[in-house]
Amino acid sequence: MTPDEAEALRIRLTATQSQRLRELGADPLVLDELFADVQLRDAAFKRLEGALVKDGRQHLKDLRAGRRAPQLVELERVLSDALTGAGFVRVVTPLIIASDSLRKMGIEHGHPLREQVFWLEDGRCLRPMLAPNLYTLLRRLDRNWSKPFGIFEIGPCFRRDSKGASHLNEFTMLNLVELGRPENEGRARLVELASLVMRAAGIAHYELEVTDSEVYGEMVDVLVNGAEVCSAGLGPHPLDGNWGVVDPWVGLGFGVERLIMAREGYPNIERAGRSLSYVDGVRLNL
Ligand code: ATP
Ligand code: MG
Repeated sequence: MTPDEAEALRIRLTATQSQRLRELGADPLVLDELFADVQLRDAAFKRLEGALVKDGRQHLKDLRAGRRAPQLVELERVLSDALTGAGFVRVVTPLIIASDSLRKMGIEHGHPLREQVFWLEDGRCLRPMLAPNLYTLLRRLDRNWSKPFGIFEIGPCFRRDSKGASHLNEFTMLNLVELGRPENEGRARLVELASLVMRAAGIAHYELEVTDSEVYGEMVDVLVNGAEVCSAGLGPHPLDGNWGVVDPWVGLGFGVERLIMAREGYPNIERAGRSLSYVDGVRLNL
């Protein structure tokens, strides 16, 4: 391209056009495209919009025909099957928890997560995480089952997270935890379990990063293109005493909508979550 031709290519999509294409699920790179004049731009916009609307309609048609479940439900099923296949036992626990169980997680007044909790009456709240319930079940099941054993839950969690492209007020957490393997195998087991979940989620490329968490001390995060999809930790941990847990453990908490976002390349988590504007990732004002 000559410098003159490059100079001519400086017309961008209008803000309204960009917004419309983004909502319809256009590849973010498309939104940066430059055009030689307004007519060419508007024609390209119409073409793209038409193609995306057509895809969306087809997708909704398939959904209605019952060919598949919404992606959130489908991924929950796939993850559940993979973990059950690996010997983990699925559990379902209450969405409403006691404030005291957050205190036992070290989430006291002044803790950042405390500010994100949706409080109910009588010192109860909507769970912002699954760990307190799973800690309780680990201790109670430990009396009945020989170790090592693993359990997992997949279900809603609630946080008043500052609204952004990767935070929802209500999201779906997958939390798996295994109790009773030798402590020196913990790190290798964590890596193995992360790989099992990422493979089941259909995500081939990810990185592990060691970080510090307010709740767990040293943790390992799973990142996809730099975005966190999971935080994982290892015990023994100072909080274990609050829950009567004495054996080593490995635990991983994944955001299921974040996994969908990563797999589908969605720039915004809203498309992957519970929504009135999208059904199964398809914008409804087609
Ligand atoms: P972030 O730093 O991205 O806000 P976090 O470290 O506070 O996340 P964790 O407490 O580690 O989150 O929760 C485990 C996983 O749950 C996260 O890795 C993420 O995938 C998911 N998650 C947490 N908060 C949200 C949210 N508000 N919306 C969607 N997913 C979330
Ligand atoms: Mg985290």
